[in-house]
Amino acid sequence: MTTRKPLDRYRRIVIKIGSALLVDRKTGLKKAWLDAMCADIAGLKAKGADVLVVSSGAIALGRSVLDLPSGALKLEESQAAAAVGQISLARAWSESLSRDEIVAGQILLTLGDTEERRRYLNARATINQLLKIGAVPIINENDTVATSEIRYGDNDRLAARVATMTGADLLILLSDIDGLYTAPPHLDPKAEFLETIAEITPEIEAMAGGAASELSRGGMRTKIDAGKIATTSGCAMIIASGKTDSPLAAISNGARSSWFAPSGTPVTARKTWIAGQLQPAGELHVDDGAVTALGAGKSLLPAGVRKVTGVFSRGDTVAIIGPSGREIARGLVSYDAEDARQIVGRKSAEIEAILGYPGRTAMIHRDDMVMTSQVNSKSERQKKDTAHA
Ligand code: GLU
Repeated sequence: MTTRKPLDRYRRIVIKIGSALLVDRKTGLKKAWLDAMCADIAGLKAKGADVLVVSSGAIALGRSVLDLPSGALKLEESQAAAAVGQISLARAWSESLSRDEIVAGQILLTLGDTEERRRYLNARATINQLLKIGAVPIINENDTVATSEIRYGDNDRLAARVATMTGADLLILLSDIDGLYTAPPHLDPKAEFLETIAEITPEIEAMAGGAASELSRGGMRTKIDAGKIATTSGCAMIIASGKTDSPLAAISNGARSSWFAPSGTPVTARKTWIAGQLQPAGELHVDDGAVTALGAGKSLLPAGVRKVTGVFSRGDTVAIIGPSGREIARGLVSYDAEDARQIVGRKSAEIEAILGYPGRTAMIHRDDMVMTSQVNSKSERQKKDTAHA
């Protein structure tokens, strides 16, 4: 199995950091640890990787700032603690990363931001833009507004959703646990450590106990859930201890950690999902130029679209039809049908003037598109010519 490879061989890495690593109950933020972590992140970025951080610690930090007594907090207390703690947390990340001249951008997500397609596209576009400009997104759940019914509840699964949303190829869960054991090690002295997990089988799931520490919500259970989300989308996952300084360097140097193999590639899993939509809500009829562009892996611009049919909303799956009438691709459309109709054949630069808002450059971004038949524009054209003959 080729799962274990140096961290700098991955191109997009999501790192989830548990509260206990960042926050000491008595002394508050662990600044030296954070600085060392940011230096590791800078090292990965210098090698060309995109790095995203899912940082817990808002509630723990707010608790420490507000000097709240230990024990369970009521919902509104933890929301208030998160509101106080998140400011300090984001500032700490921003300051530490700036030592290596890296810019941080804060993203606070609620469950609907990844589960509803429109909001998912929106959140993803923002995160992608941050990555494009070389920033490190610092992501957390928006705990101040999340209620018990509508929340991720733990940052392990949130981090996995972020990894799949951004097409990451590696998710690293850092906490005070160094990996997966065949049984909870503090309860069973015979528990064996598992270095590589090829597949998350029911047996593997059964090995995950429920334990979570007082500071964080996730235990091994949520880590295995995260593993299922990540690996089925082609993202490898590592569970490792973050208790030492520079845990990323330690993993690279062979520190004990559990590696979960991806079960597909990032591209195919998502694109399979798009291709698997049963009923495209509409059709975009495109010209030859667009067919050539799509065949070369480009996005579909409004300029290449000739006709729009059907009733659909932004984020719905639509079919892309070539000049010969053949479906050539499918994708998640960036505009509602009505707006799409208005910008047919127009340059992307004209979109704002026509619609009254800036909108996306592409009618369908290439990351949201899957080719459903082999195309090259010549064969398309030939078919059309034959049809006309
Ligand atoms: N979002 C929570 C916080 O920042 C942490 C959730 C978790 O520990 O998984 O405090």
